[in-house]
Amino acid sequence: MYDVVISGAGPSGSQCAEVIAKAGYNVALIEKNTNWRKPCGGAVHSSVLDLYPQIKKFDISKIVGVVMHSADYHKLQFKGAGNEYSIIMDRLKLDNLMRDAAVDAGADLFDNNISFDLLIKNQKKIGIKTKSPTGIKEYQGNIIVIADGMSSKLAFKSGLRSKWKINELAIGKCAIMEGTHNLDEELVYVYFMPYQGYGWIFPLSRNRFNIGVFTFGSDNSKYNVLKIYQEFITNPHIKNYIPNSNYKIIWKGAYSFPAEGVLEKSLYSDNLMLIGDTGGFVSPISGEGIQTAVVSGKVAAETAIEALQEEDYSKAILKKYRTNLEIKEIIRNFKLKRSMINFFYENKGKNLNKILSLSETDSEFREQVVNMFAYGEVPSKEFLAKVND
Ligand SMILES: Cc1cc2nc3c(=O)[nH]c(=O)nc-3n(C[C@H](O)[C@H](O)[C@H](O)COP(=O)(O)OP(=O)(O)OC[C@H]3O[C@@H](n4cnc5c(N)ncnc54)[C@H](O)[C@@H]3O)c2cc1C
Repeated sequence: MYDVVISGAGPSGSQCAEVIAKAGYNVALIEKNTNWRKPCGGAVHSSVLDLYPQIKKFDISKIVGVVMHSADYHKLQFKGAGNEYSIIMDRLKLDNLMRDAAVDAGADLFDNNISFDLLIKNQKKIGIKTKSPTGIKEYQGNIIVIADGMSSKLAFKSGLRSKWKINELAIGKCAIMEGTHNLDEELVYVYFMPYQGYGWIFPLSRNRFNIGVFTFGSDNSKYNVLKIYQEFITNPHIKNYIPNSNYKIIWKGAYSFPAEGVLEKSLYSDNLMLIGDTGGFVSPISGEGIQTAVVSGKVAAETAIEALQEEDYSKAILKKYRTNLEIKEIIRNFKLKRSMINFFYENKGKNLNKILSLSETDSEFREQVVNMFAYGEVPSKEFLAKVND
């Protein structure tokens, strides 16, 4: 019997477990496989390092800017002002560092356990069932947190959400490659496709990089992501950055994430909360979800601690997770991004082509573009008029 049982030890689940354990409560962290490297670009926002300063020991270079390419190869390069930056990390290292932090704080990590159902007694959700190498196991808790990602069976069984439809997802394929490259290690490289999606190259070190592509929304069923990936890594414009013909593939994988934004109406019920990808905490345009997964895990943990102190696990108290200011801000920000998708990608990326093309010649316009991408500034009417001109 635990105070809290968490299914999934990715960034959201591990952060949630760590905060609850630090407050002195018993927490079970259930994980399918700690050796699985999640398919991911590995771009991590600097605010995550405030919670995990141990990441700094990896001596990873700071990403302070971006090189963007439109579908017709106009180019915009900028470095951000201010203290924010990103790092690029191997997900296996990152996930295990976060799991270790949870265990060091006192959480019990159960590896090789596949959660497949909720334990129900008198119509109350009292825990989860897993398949482990030694048979079926049951973990009971006052609060259940579901953090086992976009394909979570438990989220579906909780009744809070249905399975994602293909046009509600983004589908990605990526690899870590080794060999000499022409990338500036302080920059990430993004190429906007002529349909809903983009390709990326993220430098990991002087001779390693993460490369991949996404499609999303209705274009998932129109385009084959594996074909797009192959076209991307052999595209002559991309080859300028990675000119070798024989890069060693260290690892590769394909995976999806929810692309519609936070499931704001279905984040909690009596004794249960959904966090991270399970709850839709992934940025609709960029696909970044590590930082928001961690924030959702932290806020869910703080809410659980309050519920445990009051010995009240009802949805009336767990609602505080959804109404927390940090969660509200993520929801607001994702809604804004969603509203820009059609504008960016309409007519085979015409508007993005125009935006990047104008920013090559018009310095004032360029500044607005940088503010939009780097700081989420909403484009002005004049800006939109120039694009539509
Ligand atoms: C191709 C791709 C590229 C991406 N690139 C970036 C990027 O560069 N930067 C960024 O910020 N975000 C990126 N994302 C998004 C990011 O990966 C996720 O938002 C983030 O990992 C969410 O963390 P999480 O803890 O919610 O879920 P996950 O990281 O998915 O963790 C879920 C955990 O649950 C475990 N699990 C799954 N099923 C079960 C089960 N039945 N029982 C027990 N355990 C289970 C898994 O093994 C895993 O450890 C990318 C996503 C994809 C698909």
